[in-house]
Amino acid sequence: MIRLSARHAVVQAEGRRWRCTLRKSLFHQMAAYTRPVAVGDRVAIRIFGPRDAVIEKVFDRRSCLAREHKITGRQQVIVANVDQVVVTVSLAQPPLRRGIIDRLLVAAEREEVPALIVFNKCDLVPEREPFEEVARIYRAIGYPVLFTSAVTGEGVEELRSRLEGLTTVLAGHSGVGKSSLLNAVQPGLKLKVGEISSKWGKGRHTTTAVSLLPLEGGGFVVDTPGFRSFGIVGLEKWQVGLLFPEIKAIAPGCHYPTCTHTHEPECAVKRALEEGRIDPERFESYLRIVEGEEDLLFDEDEEEEDVMDTTPETDAGERA
Ligand code: GDP
Ligand code: ZN
Repeated sequence: MIRLSARHAVVQAEGRRWRCTLRKSLFHQMAAYTRPVAVGDRVAIRIFGPRDAVIEKVFDRRSCLAREHKITGRQQVIVANVDQVVVTVSLAQPPLRRGIIDRLLVAAEREEVPALIVFNKCDLVPEREPFEEVARIYRAIGYPVLFTSAVTGEGVEELRSRLEGLTTVLAGHSGVGKSSLLNAVQPGLKLKVGEISSKWGKGRHTTTAVSLLPLEGGGFVVDTPGFRSFGIVGLEKWQVGLLFPEIKAIAPGCHYPTCTHTHEPECAVKRALEEGRIDPERFESYLRIVEGEEDLLFDEDEEEEDVMDTTPETDAGERA
């Protein structure tokens, strides 16, 4: 399923596109979710016209990026079956903020989806070294970091090859250059490049539907107008450390198995921090998440993208 709008879902199968409605029973089977299907879902369809079909079944999801709906508490799946997340930030305009990288990485870890970090707009910084230093920190943890510029084309070739054959979500604040980069990777995508409003990171949203964009080399990229960070709902405090690979690696050395690395005695993570084996800014991000200082679930202005209403659409036979 590659696209979901308020009226129907678009399914790609055997090189063709089908405009689909949903079988009513799916709404009961998938009652824990705000919507019974999500972009990226593998589905079974029943064809009943040259372009029309009904989604009969949604297959089990390999992975999904979801967040909890604030009011109903149901899971809102943003994209299913994602292979990797590209955490996209810009080095300038807007300036690099490490906290955002860490929040997005944690969200990817939560879903067990591998993450890659892209430092875009590298043409705007005269001095690369401070950013190389940051890149080294993340590479040491195990996250690849790519320097890119949609303007000069730097890093675009490598990004393209890393997207090939996979379903990738580009995550990051608006204005960092996600659309521009995807256009550079594949000019045919013709994604709208946003104007940046006066307040950094609050670019305008031109689309409301989430869609999977097919890549020429195989694979898909997900154009997600809304989300910036995914939820980390339902976690105990001590579990947050499991989402920071460098903390996870050291935590078994703590005295308490449920150590939160905040106030506990004999904490191996605190010791590693003091000895410089854990990056202090990463630990800062960890603390902010543990202490719940940041609302990781939503950005207020982007919460309502529940584009498909949850009332069942008519089944094939009943179509108006
Ligand atoms: P998105 O909201 O993340 O999709 O960001 P856009 O692709 O809409 O880009 C936001 C603004 O940044 C636009 O004015 C782009 O022209 C500009 N931009 C994007 N990438 C680069 C880059 O690599 N270098 C420079 N200098 N500007 C860029
Ligand atoms: Zn500890």
